[in-house]
Amino acid sequence: MTKIGIVSLGCPRNLVDSEVMLGSLKKEGYEIADEVGDGVDLFIINTCSFVESAREESVDTVIEAAALKREGKIRYLVICGCLPQLYGKKLLKNLPEVDAIIGTSDIPKMGMIVKALLKDDPKPGSKNFPALARSQRCVVSKELKYLYNENSPRLYLTPSHFVYLKISEGCDNLCSYCIIPRLRGKFRSRSIESVIEEAKNLSLSGKIREINIIGQDTTLFGKDIYGGKKLPELLKRIASLKSGVKWIRLLYTHPAHYSGRLIDTLRDEKKICGYLDLPIQHISDPVLKKMNRHTTRKEIICLIEKLRKNIPDLTLRTSVIIGFPGETDKEFKELMAFLEDTRFEKLGAFIYSAEDLSRAYKFPRHVPDKIKNERFDEVMKLQQKISADINRSYMGKIVNVLIDEPVEGSNNKFTGRTEGDAPEVDGCVYVSGKGLKVGEFFKVKITDTLEYDLVGEAV
Ligand code: SF4
Repeated sequence: MTKIGIVSLGCPRNLVDSEVMLGSLKKEGYEIADEVGDGVDLFIINTCSFVESAREESVDTVIEAAALKREGKIRYLVICGCLPQLYGKKLLKNLPEVDAIIGTSDIPKMGMIVKALLKDDPKPGSKNFPALARSQRCVVSKELKYLYNENSPRLYLTPSHFVYLKISEGCDNLCSYCIIPRLRGKFRSRSIESVIEEAKNLSLSGKIREINIIGQDTTLFGKDIYGGKKLPELLKRIASLKSGVKWIRLLYTHPAHYSGRLIDTLRDEKKICGYLDLPIQHISDPVLKKMNRHTTRKEIICLIEKLRKNIPDLTLRTSVIIGFPGETDKEFKELMAFLEDTRFEKLGAFIYSAEDLSRAYKFPRHVPDKIKNERFDEVMKLQQKISADINRSYMGKIVNVLIDEPVEGSNNKFTGRTEGDAPEVDGCVYVSGKGLKVGEFFKVKITDTLEYDLVGEAV
């Protein structure tokens, strides 16, 4: 049977695309390999390219796979996702080992491409390879309309107890530093019925304990198809489903798109985690304006106050961009003072990356790398202190922990997460105890605290 392997780079939104591609290939009868190991017939790399460092990682991964192809461990190499969407045919020209490339809206064509590549090919590298001329191996649509739905077969790459539920694709916010709208197209929501049907199907496994709601901007859900934002309605319907799901986590929200109804829903629906991913990117009004963030310092502060007042024990995750073009020392100090006051439980800081396809690239007074790095270090040092301090407040407390995986090489030791830890981005809890089971909740008494992680014993 033809064996297919995949590596999925970038964000959970890209991971869902990988799962849909694998789901359809499995449905067509291909064997999905856990890893390249002793060889696969076809290897897919689902790439990321929203910033320079992500593109470098994607290209490095392609080059590694090309080496495996030369060693005969991979027969065909297919690149998909944001890198082909950005570079198109150039990618095929510059990477001769790559057999085909597929864009972010061409996922449903993966089966056709794989079939054509494998057609009539008795052995690797044979010249009589009429199936697909090289020019035909670039399947990158300019029209970005694709949106998976409840009928899209998915092969999950996350552990069986948590899953990502993508409710929309694309983005219209046009932040001046961001090229994602070019890679993913205009904002488009799935229908409420489609998302609910998928959430129902997910809960049938009986194993799913956590659903992570994702999109480019989840807070705008529905505005394009229902004439208004429908996230509260959607969350209520997901929360009302009878299933083993205990945690519904909202990721990728936008501070400009919250509503009173949404905050009430986050407060009232007990299954919705007291956790919010709220990227602010900055706090100084001149910088927010140049970033085109559609919000102001005053509005962000007011929103955070409302959220913390309405949602007890809320864990707020945010992300900030350091060294945006024109960021003055005074504006940076304003950000530092705000972060010190607000004490976000979780924070991701990113050094501004000059993307030549973004509007900000042409903005004046780019901040020198040395200053960008110094400012980044200052933010991380401050957040390390805040996070360690907040973690100390858990000492001796009993918290509810979802067990994720065993700690390699040790008995009775596992890692898990509290409601305040999103998978793959936040810290974890190191849990020791008997009878612990992956994918189940356990009460854990915190016996030690670290900067970003907690340590405890099952009680
Ligand atoms: S909200 Fe802004 S940063 Fe996020 S994907 Fe949209 S344009 Fe990019």
